Amino acid sequence: MKYRSLFTAIILLFGLLNLNAQNDYFFAEGARFDPKIPTPEKYLGYPIGSLHTRHDAIVGYMRELARLSDRATLDTIGETYEHRQLVVLTITSPENHRNLESIRKEHLKLTDPNQSIDDYSNMKSVVLLGYNVHGNEPSSSEAALLTAYYYVAGQSAEVRAAVKDAVLMVDPAFNPDGRDRHTTWANSYLGDPMVSDPIDVEHNEAWPRGRTNHYWYDLNRDWLPLAHVESQARIDFYHKWYPNVVTDFHEMGTNSTYFFEPTKPFGSENPVVPRDNYDGLNNLFAGYFHEALDEIGSLYFTKEQYDNSYPGYGSTYPDIHGALGLVFEQASSRGHVQDSPTGKVGFAFTIKNHVTSSLATVRASVGEREVLLKHMEKYFDSALEEGSRNPVKGWVFGDPADDGRNQAFIDLLLRHRIKTVALNDDIELNGKNYKAGKAFYVPNAQKQYRMVRTMFEQVTTFYDSIFYDASSWTAALTYNMPYAEWKGKQDLSGKELARTDLKGTYARVPKTNYAYLIEWNEYYAPKALNYLLEKGVYVNYGSKPFSIETNEGVKEYGYGTLMIPVSRQEMDADLVHAYVEEATEIAGIRAQSVKTGFSTSGVDLGSGSFTTVRKPKAIMLIGGNTNSAEAGEVWHLFDSKVGMPITKVDMNNAGRISWSDYNTLILVSGSYNSLGESTLDRIKLWVREGGTLITIKGATSWAIGAKWVNEKYAARSEQVTPDRMDYVTSRDFFGARSVGGSMYMTDIDISHPIGFGYTSRELPVYRNHTTLIQPSSSPTNTVVKYTENPLLSGYVNKANLKDIGGTASLIATGMGRGNVVMFVDNPNFRGMWYGTNRLLFNAVFFGNY
Ligand SMILES: [Zn+2]
Repeated sequence: MKYRSLFTAIILLFGLLNLNAQNDYFFAEGARFDPKIPTPEKYLGYPIGSLHTRHDAIVGYMRELARLSDRATLDTIGETYEHRQLVVLTITSPENHRNLESIRKEHLKLTDPNQSIDDYSNMKSVVLLGYNVHGNEPSSSEAALLTAYYYVAGQSAEVRAAVKDAVLMVDPAFNPDGRDRHTTWANSYLGDPMVSDPIDVEHNEAWPRGRTNHYWYDLNRDWLPLAHVESQARIDFYHKWYPNVVTDFHEMGTNSTYFFEPTKPFGSENPVVPRDNYDGLNNLFAGYFHEALDEIGSLYFTKEQYDNSYPGYGSTYPDIHGALGLVFEQASSRGHVQDSPTGKVGFAFTIKNHVTSSLATVRASVGEREVLLKHMEKYFDSALEEGSRNPVKGWVFGDPADDGRNQAFIDLLLRHRIKTVALNDDIELNGKNYKAGKAFYVPNAQKQYRMVRTMFEQVTTFYDSIFYDASSWTAALTYNMPYAEWKGKQDLSGKELARTDLKGTYARVPKTNYAYLIEWNEYYAPKALNYLLEKGVYVNYGSKPFSIETNEGVKEYGYGTLMIPVSRQEMDADLVHAYVEEATEIAGIRAQSVKTGFSTSGVDLGSGSFTTVRKPKAIMLIGGNTNSAEAGEVWHLFDSKVGMPITKVDMNNAGRISWSDYNTLILVSGSYNSLGESTLDRIKLWVREGGTLITIKGATSWAIGAKWVNEKYAARSEQVTPDRMDYVTSRDFFGARSVGGSMYMTDIDISHPIGFGYTSRELPVYRNHTTLIQPSSSPTNTVVKYTENPLLSGYVNKANLKDIGGTASLIATGMGRGNVVMFVDNPNFRGMWYGTNRLLFNAVFFGNY
């Protein structure tokens, strides 16, 4: 009965007349379909729009289409953290399917500047129809089901032409874990009759909501950082095919209408993308979209909004690969039906608009096939040509002290198919020595030239001053990678690298009865340390540099070096050796063994400068109004880079925490006053008794505002506002005063335990807020401080820049027997800040310094 009355409601809402009328509702009149292919409704057992479809059912339907039709095949390109399959349904004519590999190879000639194409007539448009990167914008995956059905089962001349001239790839859910989180929510609270009241629980998900993936990351920011398995799989598939057109379907506020590209001219465009993309292709496609939406009477807007500049968006990355990336936004029903000022917004209606745009995308991709093919060919030809003309030949980079971070950065370059070589010879540039073995080179003269610019160029001039998101994404800075332009006559020579070359530096270490040493400047040293602590090995860290004779000869060791004395363990020397081997092998780093504690310079190994590492027992508060993205970044960092569990406790349960079981508390942005006085007093006491409190961004402001610490906000210079201005200009005027995401140089005290492992005092940081904190009145507390003129890359207005210079980026201060480590800036932004991650590692492992 429930099914029946639900469906009745759908019919009433959308004017459907009978159960078989679904095709008529979603598709143009007269569309004919192969009766042997089940509609989504027939397969699922409910009409599309009456329920949110679970991801396994989406995959099941795609599999069924591939099983029944010779137009469709299904590929599994990867899986999510929660083991949901990432699938792509390839739809094209049976004949094309038989020649798919040769079609692909022919297509890839477009991306090869050394090959030219005389005849486009047999080539196909390759269209990647991507859906549902934000899990709680669910209309898109439902539209994917109907779109797949339309091209697999459709019998019209238009469909036959489309599958002949195009290879359609339907990726029904970019973010399956987030989708199912939201799907479960929306379906669980579905009433009968349905409740359209916006305040109803069905329309208001609980923290962390379904937008993000398993680790609460926004995957529509991850096409550049590739921090996650979903994006890594997607990029591999992307570079296998280089589609001509890529869609990215979203939802926006319930009270809005519909959005398709073009986005806001100039200000929201990416600086390395050729104008032709915006002035030519976007306008050409917009004609198809408005025609299709006009036809069904849907209101829409274009040009005013939505950012297309950050390369980590699904609609921007394709623009930097000779394709047309397209973002669509539909006013959300967020739930099955919701009230808006202009009537009820029903789920089926939102789906219909995305179906209409999907079909219009294919129509345009087929109609403009030759334009798209030529655009891609010209794109890669001109990329190589511009790169070859650049007086900067390429980029030299490499950290002399951190192979792990070097390899992680090279891995990112290679995943993006950027040609990278390992240099044969040492080279000195701008006073920095790049040593062979730890020095690499990326030539500008390559077809991925525009991605090379994305990785290395520091941009400080812009068309506009309003940024929806970041205004800087210079990857080399996020990895704190020493790098320099190479302006010689010839490219530097070396061995071209492949991802299989990246294996860490682990080597067996000979057994000793004295001690082992591990350099802390290796990015993955915390992983080895955590492993040793898990196994019950005592590990010391050194707070002064020294040199000593090792199995690798006399070696210099910096601040934070790990020293594992053999005789002081509660296990025998063989077991200590085995654990050191295992720890360094899983971390991909080296240890050295020593037979003496007598240093050739600096402190000896028995010095009071060595402190035993406290095994971290870390807890993080989540839920409530805490920032789920920051919390997810912390969780993902310790899972993926350290292998250390962090207990995550909902704010509502904070009163039940047995604080003596923990020694490290991490608070991300959020207000913690709601914890209540007794819990806050308990936490304060816990810090005073020796706990380490780590506050990130907004939590730092909270700790200062609540007077837990003695630090102060820095003064802000007055920015003149006119006495009167036109209403329409005010948003732009005040928008220019925000700090939307830019990169700055700081000075770091590398002798402070929170600064251990850094070998240079220069450290780039990310700032996307206007909070200014004064350097501490205690001279050693300001571990990281902005330089006087700190801008490295991105937009900031002059007054803000002046104010930021000289303020604190990280303060560590004592509180009783404990410490408070305050991050003014987020050290883990988007999983891309390998450079500043170490500060958090230090705070967790050495926080009781
Ligand atoms: Zn979205």
